[in-house]
Amino acid sequence: MNNKSPDYYDIDALLNEEQKLVRDSIRDWVKENVSPIIEDSNFNASFPKELIKLLADVGGFGSIFPEKYGGISLDYISYGLMMQELERGDSSVRVFCSIQTSLVMNTIYTFGSDELKQTYLNKLSRGELVGSFGLSEPNHGSDPSSMDMTYIELDDCYLLNGSKMWIGNAPFCDIAVVWARSKEDGYACFLVERETPGFTTSKIERKWSFRASETGELILHDAKVPKNLMLHKSCSIKPALKSLNIARYAVAWGALGIAMECYEIALNYANERTQFGKKIGSNQLIQKKLVYMITEITKCQLLSWRLGKLMDKDKATFEQISMAKRNNVEVAYNIARQARQILGGMGITGEYPIMRHLFNLETLITYQGTDEIHTLITGRDITGISAF
Ligand SMILES: Cc1cc2nc3c(=O)[nH]c(=O)nc-3n(C[C@H](O)[C@H](O)[C@H](O)COP(=O)(O)OP(=O)(O)OC[C@H]3O[C@@H](n4cnc5c(N)ncnc54)[C@H](O)[C@@H]3O)c2cc1C
Repeated sequence: MNNKSPDYYDIDALLNEEQKLVRDSIRDWVKENVSPIIEDSNFNASFPKELIKLLADVGGFGSIFPEKYGGISLDYISYGLMMQELERGDSSVRVFCSIQTSLVMNTIYTFGSDELKQTYLNKLSRGELVGSFGLSEPNHGSDPSSMDMTYIELDDCYLLNGSKMWIGNAPFCDIAVVWARSKEDGYACFLVERETPGFTTSKIERKWSFRASETGELILHDAKVPKNLMLHKSCSIKPALKSLNIARYAVAWGALGIAMECYEIALNYANERTQFGKKIGSNQLIQKKLVYMITEITKCQLLSWRLGKLMDKDKATFEQISMAKRNNVEVAYNIARQARQILGGMGITGEYPIMRHLFNLETLITYQGTDEIHTLITGRDITGISAF
């Protein structure tokens, strides 16, 4: 397989040389560095931390930001292709880059003072600091506007109390962006340093999905956060939700990467495996599955490419991003399931990555806004009626 495949509609022709270079180099990097180790990391439920420095070196952290903040002002199609190729390897690797770039660095880049940007962004881009992003809570996932985490202003700091649940990289993060609420002032987000007294983290054990991504809780108990580390405050939850845009965009491309990988494995298998004296790929029922896969992949590729173009012009709406996230994850899920079926019993083994991807897709369906919530977002947008 060449680096552009599958590409049924010559979508390669829509990409410029830089975009192809990003895609090809990340694909090669994943084959060399992720594929050989990821089954073990998944089995051991630990993130392969030796990849952090390597990911920084290939531009995995913050490349969409300007050079003075450690980036190269990478365009959004290139960023999407990077996410696609990383998630072909494993969701844990894509989500690590995505948390660092789309959630932590982007929140600092969007809201932080120039001093904070100078202090944190370069270190995050070099992987010297690992970030977490905490919006979800034990009692408030789909509805973060009801969050319980509180902040109050004291003379010399802010006092934060509450906990954030399901937070990627929480067990070993150096800094965390957390959203909290005050009765008087609404919502605010803060940068919390690992050393902050009253700040602890835990790890969620025995997950069946995102196993190689370490997920946990951020617990703030009378945590005193210096005043200059408040990044933003707003009477509405909208800035918090808007800060998820780039991460949702990354999920859309990442899910596409999983779909492409599962399709190629299934296609190869169908052309090699013989039953009843003929290749299983010669059966109409198998071909129907493969045809569904390549058709849906092609539609997702075009949707993602167009969304990237809109992102580059800063014209992509919250709702358009939402649609791509929901659609691409659903498509990837259906494709991974059918690919698993084409492989028969072999499909459930660790010889092939399909079950790992399938389990990871269970998280993609739920996090960064569930399938249901994104359906409601599109529904509200086209009818003008909120059905939440
Ligand atoms: C592995 C993993 C990593 C994560 N990483 C992070 C992270 O780094 N940072 C972070 O902040 N969060 C993270 N999350 C949290 C994730 O965003 C939430 O799990 C998600 O928003 C759903 O919240 P919930 O799990 O509380 O489910 P709930 O909100 O309790 O939803 C349960 C079910 O009810 C449905 N539902 C809820 N409301 C409605 C409605 N109005 N109409 C129809 N159906 C509805 C949902 O769609 C879902 O099916 C992560 C989650 C996972 C699993």
